[in-house]
Amino acid sequence: MPEIVLVGRSNVGKSSLIRAITRGAADVRVGKRPGVTRKPVFHELDGELVLVDMPGFGFMSGVPRRYQERVKDLIVRYLEEKDNILFAIHVVDAKALPEIAERWERRGEIPIDREMFQFLNEVGLDPIVAANKIDKIKPIEFEEHMDAVAEALGLFPPWRQWLDTLFPISAKTGEGLVEFLEALQERVRKAGYPEF
Ligand code: GDP
Repeated sequence: MPEIVLVGRSNVGKSSLIRAITRGAADVRVGKRPGVTRKPVFHELDGELVLVDMPGFGFMSGVPRRYQERVKDLIVRYLEEKDNILFAIHVVDAKALPEIAERWERRGEIPIDREMFQFLNEVGLDPIVAANKIDKIKPIEFEEHMDAVAEALGLFPPWRQWLDTLFPISAKTGEGLVEFLEALQERVRKAGYPEF
């Protein structure tokens, strides 16, 4: 079955988003201890498509670095080897990402979310970004903050150039979810599959 793959660091709200995409039908636990999911988890969407939840990557307190590396390798290998993936959803914590990316850059490293986003593009998975937790961003700082989110992913600001790619959402309040879900359905239609 064709797959839509979901990637993101741990704790960005992937489980919350899966609930929204599957309209609560998927058995996912929100706020579970990070690092518990070690393997991809498959959720069937209307018998036609599968939503694949990849383990959360990146730093998690109390989890050894070699484990983080293993998770990243697992994700990269999966995405390189599978040939039935329609596209990827990359979930980021829009509130936290700019500061995290800045920290990596100060250390002279490429922010892990930029690396992942660029990798998804390189392997042709045409990622759609769910920039989650926007309820935590002050309205007055929103535009500037979203520009910083775009930059953290290696996209030139202004972020509004990327409205087909970058979707500010809140899985908590539901803001932006209608637009995001519509964009998902649009991609599914374009790939020649019925809406789920
Ligand atoms: P996962 O580890 O990526 O699967 O993330 P979860 O869905 O388990 O969410 C991690 C934490 O972030 C939980 O405490 C959620 O309640 C919280 N969370 C998820 N989405 C949002 C959001 O849009 N806004 C806020 N403020 N918190 C969120």
